[in-house]
Amino acid sequence: MRFLCDAMLGGLAKWLRAAGHDALYASEDTGADDREILRLAIEEGRVLLTGDGGFLEREPVRDGEVGFLLVPQAPVEEQLRIVAKRFDLTRHEPRCMRCNGELEELSREEAGRCVPPKVAERQEEFLRCRGCGRLLWYGTHWERIGARAGAGLRVAASAPDAC
Ligand SMILES: [Zn+2]
Repeated sequence: MRFLCDAMLGGLAKWLRAAGHDALYASEDTGADDREILRLAIEEGRVLLTGDGGFLEREPVRDGEVGFLLVPQAPVEEQLRIVAKRFDLTRHEPRCMRCNGELEELSREEAGRCVPPKVAERQEEFLRCRGCGRLLWYGTHWERIGARAGAGLRVAASAPDAC
């Protein structure tokens, strides 16, 4: 299942990505125009996640052509739980929180050239985004976000830029 978050739900898009779900963010990927958002949702078969009830009056949503969920204003971990419950989501391999790209494993040697020596020593697993090229590893930030998201949907997040 693929998602499209409207401009109000940028935080949710990032967390969905970290939980391994393909999530575009309207203001990055389409601009904020409603028609553009709906066009992309139809074209790519994405479920529209929005905080804007006005979409309910739009034809493709009203007619059920576009999958749709109205997400209430709430802390992002609560929003993630709502979406996960509604669509019965489980955790997958994390995607890049920044660009939605898929991540590939990187050997320690390759990563070692780019990260601080302490990180290279301590970390076992390194990943690189196929989209933006960013280098990632499972640091404390990932654990913190995972804990906030609850045990049901453990997520991984990105480390700061290293290369
Ligand atoms: Zn990326």
